[in-house]
Amino acid sequence: MADKNSEDRAKYDFKKDMQEIQNYRGRSTELISVYVPKTKQISDVMAYLRNEQSQASNIKSKTTMKNVQSAIDSIAARLKTYKSPPENGVVIFCGEVPRAGDQTKMVQYVINPPEPITAFLYRCDSTFFTEPLESMLLDKKCYGLITIDRSEATLGILSGSRIQVLKHFDSLVPSKHHQGGQSSVRFERLIEIAAHEFFKKVADNATEVFLNRPELLGILIGGPGATKEFFVKEEYLHHELRKKVVSPLVDTGYTDESGLRELVQNAQGIITDMQLTQEKVYMQRLFTEIRKADGGLSCYGEDEVRSALDMGAVDMLLLSDSLKKRRITLECPNGHIHEKTVADADQKFQCPECGQSATVTKDEDLIDDFFNRADAYNTRLQLISGDSEEGDMLLKAFGGVAALLRYRPN
Ligand code: ZN
Repeated sequence: MADKNSEDRAKYDFKKDMQEIQNYRGRSTELISVYVPKTKQISDVMAYLRNEQSQASNIKSKTTMKNVQSAIDSIAARLKTYKSPPENGVVIFCGEVPRAGDQTKMVQYVINPPEPITAFLYRCDSTFFTEPLESMLLDKKCYGLITIDRSEATLGILSGSRIQVLKHFDSLVPSKHHQGGQSSVRFERLIEIAAHEFFKKVADNATEVFLNRPELLGILIGGPGATKEFFVKEEYLHHELRKKVVSPLVDTGYTDESGLRELVQNAQGIITDMQLTQEKVYMQRLFTEIRKADGGLSCYGEDEVRSALDMGAVDMLLLSDSLKKRRITLECPNGHIHEKTVADADQKFQCPECGQSATVTKDEDLIDDFFNRADAYNTRLQLISGDSEEGDMLLKAFGGVAALLRYRPN
């Protein structure tokens, strides 16, 4: 559960950071983007930055010069904390951006990209340079494809709408109709051994190409006859892959490359359903509970959900991914500390206890705040896409925050 939460959180954070980064506009050419691939020495990057630092002293506008130099300083300070770049490299965005009124603020983002950065890059511009990261935002979910009968099998992968053939096998299983001179029982036996070997070979190759793909949503299996059912029922596939086999199996006329295309075409309905199904299932459970006389094992609205969560009563949090709120901590000169959820943390606040002006001492995205708490109580956090009907209802009717409970707190 913690693994699934942290995987979802990484995805959510990356998407949210990218949206913010892409929206910033500098007042002049003073927003810096640095891409450091795994293969680049940190000391080389430092030398590069020192050189840029001295170049920056030629900038005519005093303000711009100061902003560029302090952004470079800040990036260098951050990079100094690394011995070497992480596995996928690291990307730092830093610069002075406008805020309310006539003021500016310095922002810095350190991104651990979900896929490797391939080249070192330094840019200073009026916007941050995000292009190399944009393709990483695309949905990488894919399906494994297998078409099989006794004469032939093909393995492939479906990502987006693209079908890629990975392997193709012709079997040496003789047809049952050409028995030659051999005794029928003995010949049948040989055929079954050959078929068994063929299925094993297909399954071994499936393990090789499908097993270490965390983004694999499911495996679609097709073919013309009963062989596909036999192949699944006799458990030739690796046990981890068996869990991903999508039912029902799909009838196709062919088992070659055109068979893969048929498979995808005939499974279109199943694929569309699967992507939204999980979220739908949880939301339906929520609605079923809500309809019960005492509210069943449901809970909604931020305050209620928060208190149930703090009692350890929440099994699953259901949050709209379109929440866009901040969870802040306020402190006043009298030492009062209060937490609060707001739409925008960049404003003046008063202490709700004594009315004095209060300082924001902690400011976090609301969904990240829930991710932190969920992990503490071994609670699963499920984001619900704002694009779906259920997601829309969650946001409008329940303020985007609901929960399925382990038990009903008093
Ligand atoms: Zn106070």
